[in-house]
Amino acid sequence: METEVIIIGGGLTGATLACGLAAQGIQTVVIDRIAPADGISPSFDGRASAIAQSSKIALDGIGLWPVVQEKTEPIREIRVSDGPSLLFLHYDHTDIGDAPLGYMIENRDMRAGLLHLTQETGGLTVAAPAEIVEMHRDNSRACVSLKDGRTINGQLIVAADGRGSATRKAAGIDVTGWAYKQNAIVATIDHAVSHQGIAHERFLASGPFAILPLRGGHRSSLVWTERTALVDSFMALDDDAFLNEIAERVGGFLGNLYLVGPRFQHPLGLQVATSYTDTRLALVGDAAHGIHPIAGQGLNLGLRDAAALIDILVEAKRYGLDLAHHAGLERYQRWRRADNLLMAGMTDVLNRLFSNDVRPLKAALHAGLATVNNLPPLKKTFMRHAMGQVGDLPKLMRGEAPG
Ligand SMILES: Cc1cc2nc3c(=O)[nH]c(=O)nc-3n(C[C@H](O)[C@H](O)[C@H](O)COP(=O)(O)OP(=O)(O)OC[C@H]3O[C@@H](n4cnc5c(N)ncnc54)[C@H](O)[C@@H]3O)c2cc1C
Repeated sequence: METEVIIIGGGLTGATLACGLAAQGIQTVVIDRIAPADGISPSFDGRASAIAQSSKIALDGIGLWPVVQEKTEPIREIRVSDGPSLLFLHYDHTDIGDAPLGYMIENRDMRAGLLHLTQETGGLTVAAPAEIVEMHRDNSRACVSLKDGRTINGQLIVAADGRGSATRKAAGIDVTGWAYKQNAIVATIDHAVSHQGIAHERFLASGPFAILPLRGGHRSSLVWTERTALVDSFMALDDDAFLNEIAERVGGFLGNLYLVGPRFQHPLGLQVATSYTDTRLALVGDAAHGIHPIAGQGLNLGLRDAAALIDILVEAKRYGLDLAHHAGLERYQRWRRADNLLMAGMTDVLNRLFSNDVRPLKAALHAGLATVNNLPPLKKTFMRHAMGQVGDLPKLMRGEAPG
């Protein structure tokens, strides 16, 4: 099979990149080890993602947003508090305009939308489920051989195969980082009282506890950060006892709570690839960087990687250049690594500062955040960060044609 770009990993980042490239006339093959239908089953991934405004604009640009829009819930406010009561930071979208602060979507709905789009988009081939048996990259070509006998030749391989990226490891690219000794317990609840589009972040001693509004008003996604040593005992509770633990942390403002679907857990850690590129290779998404979910930004960074790479590859193609030309890959690395490192650092510091019970430190943090809350220009800057509107944005994220 002859193509231009071979993407390894058809998760949220890889599939978005594939659709975006193919829509720009760049022949793309995306390979995943799992069958696409498996990725949308309720037992596969119970997470929901906060999609920043700039990511929404990019997803609109590649044609995904109209497909998934009815599954999304606008985030109108974000309330940050210490425990259920003490509010110290309040973002309201009306403070900076009409647009919501972001949108929530269940990961499986986004995967389903991407599956639909990959089937509709010309110039895009999905090889899944497929097992890679050999990969070759040199100055003249890139090539991937699959166990089913197919061989795919292209100009560039993109590693979008997640935190444990085998492609990154095979290229000899190391990661630096550390484990947080925290896991995220993820669950979905229905509730009697409407969430009104408000996202809540509670800072508890074990770490942040997020209540995130889902479509329809009466369903929310929970991300409960807990000490790793205690996670197994919470996961082993029966549904009633588990729901009691949740109710204790949520408080009463949503009325009666009901558990929906299975619960999940994810070990948390920070990891950053020491390089984002190699000969005919670029890393995107979690293959390049994995961060704490405290600010709901991991996928947004991956989508920025994808949008930046689309800019660079569309430009290269327009000028008749090799898509893996050195200057283009260097530009990608410089552009994305700095931005991702900044966010990785910010989320690391936030998590360290807030995941504790040291009273003087907590008092200082409250005072600091209360200051932010009372200084409108500073608060607006923070809100623009959360909306993904700060920094050197790729064209797709500015609502422009890529390249
Ligand atoms: C609890 C939690 C909550 C989060 N909430 C948010 C949020 O609100 N907002 C946000 O922006 N981010 C959030 N994130 C981060 C976000 O979920 C990840 O950044 C994102 O899912 C990464 O997507 P990816 O496509 O890069 O990697 P992955 O989702 O890991 O996808 C990798 C893909 O590669 C495939 N693959 C792996 N190995 C191979 C191989 N050898 N061959 C072929 N295919 C392979 C896999 O099957 C998979 O489909 C959260 C993370 C956690 C843990």
